[in-house]
Amino acid sequence: MNMENGGGTGRGPESGQANGTLPVALLRRISANRPAPAAGECCEMCGEPISDAHQHVVDLGSHAMMCTCRPCYLLFTDATAHMRYRSVPDRYLSFPGFDLGPGQWDELEIPVGLAFFFHSSKLGRTVAFYPGPAGATESELPLAAWDAVLARNPALGLAAPDTEALLIRGPGRAAADCHLVPVDACYELVGRLRRLWRGFDGGQEARDELAAFFDRISRRSVPAPADSASPASASAASGREASDSTGSGAGGFR
Ligand SMILES: [Zn+2]
Ligand SMILES: [Zn+2]
Repeated sequence: MNMENGGGTGRGPESGQANGTLPVALLRRISANRPAPAAGECCEMCGEPISDAHQHVVDLGSHAMMCTCRPCYLLFTDATAHMRYRSVPDRYLSFPGFDLGPGQWDELEIPVGLAFFFHSSKLGRTVAFYPGPAGATESELPLAAWDAVLARNPALGLAAPDTEALLIRGPGRAAADCHLVPVDACYELVGRLRRLWRGFDGGQEARDELAAFFDRISRRSVPAPADSASPASASAASGREASDSTGSGAGGFR
């Protein structure tokens, strides 16, 4: 696996693309910078002042998150447009029937009990990150194992590429748990965990923070529509063509 130990590599976000991996250093920068939302933060597109509670746009080339004002955010909400940027939707879904078979979590080779997964359009595959003392670390995801999770839980295919992540808490005292969340919420969580992380497994404070986070997203989530499975999972596998089918009303931007 691709353990990043926090020593600055000097690798810029763009050069990190060359070998086909995501710019973990950049993700770390995002999570490291987020804790201090300086008073007077500005839209990274137009420079207008924005409040602490603002929305984000993803740069599809680097997966960098940009803080935006509302008008700039609205420029990139069309999930079918072929543009460099895409707005992060504010959608939270739960998967009440989420289920992992015996050993299925272990087969994903995530070294801690939590990871988030999203489809990278640039790379054409799903990528996985887990929290730790260095922030978000990319895991070398065995794609066959991931496909097996999707096959068992086809509703997970609802997640939009690049902007929506599947946040999975592996089985422990409770059964495994999965939510579809905006990808920026994952970076926010990882940033919080990073500051609390102790030892190998994160320690009690990180576990408490994680439990509180899952409580919050559980309250916010609506159950994924039961009939959502097959067409959307096809779209997740092939890219983004079908992800605009928001017939159920659960999808899209609000
Ligand atoms: Zn703006
Ligand atoms: Zn922001």
